[in-house]
Amino acid sequence: MNVGADIKMQFLFALRSKGVTDARVLTVMEQVDRASFLTGLFKDRAYDDMPLPIACGQTISQPSIVGLMTQALDVQPRHKVLEIGTGSGYQAAILAKLARRVYTVDRFKRLVTEAKNLFDAQNISNITALTADGSHGLPEQAPFDRILLTAAAEDPPSTLLAQLRIGGIMVLPVGQSDTVQSLIRVTKTQTGLDYEELRTVRFVPLLEGLGQD
Ligand code: SAH
Repeated sequence: MNVGADIKMQFLFALRSKGVTDARVLTVMEQVDRASFLTGLFKDRAYDDMPLPIACGQTISQPSIVGLMTQALDVQPRHKVLEIGTGSGYQAAILAKLARRVYTVDRFKRLVTEAKNLFDAQNISNITALTADGSHGLPEQAPFDRILLTAAAEDPPSTLLAQLRIGGIMVLPVGQSDTVQSLIRVTKTQTGLDYEELRTVRFVPLLEGLGQD
């Protein structure tokens, strides 16, 4: 979709007004076309700041939340990043413009296949998308500089914290799916873990095992 300049301006304005102020994050969010990660009539709503339905009963996150999470993750050009919850692939495409390599996993094979096709079509070559239960992380690729969860865990999974490099950052929603969740940032230091609460959010739950689709 060839998005009009005024729609993009409004989109960026909405992101800034919700606290997405990092220039690099705003630049990549201007470049990545959210409509290409949506289907049917939802494409027309791509530049509204709202979550929207995708396949397998899942959702593409609200752009301002994607921006705030990306900003909190402080991704640098040499980083190896792990995302749990590929969904549409939109967040992974944004991370891929900021990092050296992105590994993204989803429990639905269908979502991973569709996201891979979109990455190929858009010539994004630094994303490895895999069907897996992300709560186990990707031990064979660990340690990661950054880990992002786009599904809510009750607590930060210790398996994933173990796969984070010292000095690394993990951003995730925590709390039960039917209640208000907190978006938190965990920094792994030489001596332990620092926790910071960023805001309240609402995400689908991190579920065990693979999906049916
Ligand atoms: N980041 C996505 C939005 C993800 S919605 C985007 O940009 O579109 C959350 C996703 O987490 C869903 O697709 C869901 O299938 C996935 N998910 C939930 N539990 C999971 C688990 N244990 N392992 C991998 N993916 C999981």
